[in-house]
Amino acid sequence: MIKAVRGFKDILPGETEKWVYLENLARKFFLNYGFREIRLPILEKTELFARSIGEATDIVEKEMYTFLDRSKESLTLRPEATAGICRAVIENGLYAQAKVLKLFTIGPMFRHERPQKGRLRQFHQLNAEVFGSQAPGTDAEIITLAFDILEAGGAKNLRLEINSLGCPACRPAFRQALRDFLAKLKDKLCEDCRRRAERNPLRALDCKKESCQALYAEAPLIEEFWCEACREHFSRVLGDLETLEVPYVKNPRLVRGLDYYVRTTFEIKAPDLGAQDTVAAGGRYDGLLKALGGPDLPGVGFAIGMERFLLVADLKEGLAARIDLFVAALGDVARQKMLPLVHRLRKLGLAVDLDHEGRSLKAQLKQANRLGARYTLIVGENELREKKALLRDMESGSQEEISLEALEEALLKRLGS
Ligand code: ATP
Ligand code: MG
Repeated sequence: MIKAVRGFKDILPGETEKWVYLENLARKFFLNYGFREIRLPILEKTELFARSIGEATDIVEKEMYTFLDRSKESLTLRPEATAGICRAVIENGLYAQAKVLKLFTIGPMFRHERPQKGRLRQFHQLNAEVFGSQAPGTDAEIITLAFDILEAGGAKNLRLEINSLGCPACRPAFRQALRDFLAKLKDKLCEDCRRRAERNPLRALDCKKESCQALYAEAPLIEEFWCEACREHFSRVLGDLETLEVPYVKNPRLVRGLDYYVRTTFEIKAPDLGAQDTVAAGGRYDGLLKALGGPDLPGVGFAIGMERFLLVADLKEGLAARIDLFVAALGDVARQKMLPLVHRLRKLGLAVDLDHEGRSLKAQLKQANRLGARYTLIVGENELREKKALLRDMESGSQEEISLEALEEALLKRLGS
């Protein structure tokens, strides 16, 4: 038997209803906040990710699904959405449409990581990006949006951690201080961090190993290096969050796994998740559009991980698909007679099903139950002769006779359409 690829999961009926529910909920929030949907290819040129995410990052160094296609071009299954959105914004000149451009997208991402709870190789994200605004209010709005979606999905005990990574004016000094600090620890660091210490010292702070984290308790803090503009920006982001009553915790050691972030960075954690507790993450990436050959427009955005969102969401019972009516036609004459009615009701927007296999009444009622039918219409030879049908309310079990002539009208009335 051929099995699915490790870390790639089927999303089955029973689960899909939850996905659709949360996606629709998110979509409603995106639209209410003034975002428009963009749908992108999942395959991009490898160079796009190397240039945006950064060569010396975990994602680019060891997590990407990269291959040569038949024309020997290096392509990559997207590990995240921001790079592709930026490419599309530049390529299609979308920035000319509005001074502030708000886009969202929903779809799969691919990273070759060790599969475990809340970590897959194909996973899914809800992404939102705003281009063209440097205002701190936009950062706060983006964060609030992520928070709203998660809360509306029923996630509890969310913890928003926030930091500012400074900007090209002030970060180089911090980077150097960090490099000096790490150089002194060299022998004690893990292999990855030894490499990061040279190539990308900020990334060391994001190390998942406790032995490294313990050493970094003494590391210099970015806030000691912020320029006046970064300090001001950050305090105004926090000010808006306070106005909007979004609770936050400043985490001066929060860095992100992607190089393109500047200033505001944040993660929303759900402690109930265990080891992989970050359900959403994002931040500002002014300069990325320009680095990718576009206009010098600022950007800020986030990604919510759908698999983790589903783990913390509180979903009502009864999300499973139900049908309005099951038609139990007994014998082919009855089936032929009911066929046009089923077709008309379906076209009127009702969820209706019937049996084509000529099964027994008992089997058909069982099938109606499995489909969660609200009503079952029973039509056999007797009913046809007497020009009536039996309508059974599946919840209460009560039955009533309806004349075949007035059947459609009677059904529409009961099914509330
Ligand atoms: P982590 O530290 O958990 O590896 P990350 O920093 O790599 O996360 P981002 O690139 O910021 O994650 O992605 C944003 C969100 O996407 C994460 O907060 C998480 O919810 C989700 N996510 C990232 N990688 C995976 C994965 N392999 N499987 C499932 N969800 C993921
Ligand atoms: Mg990761």
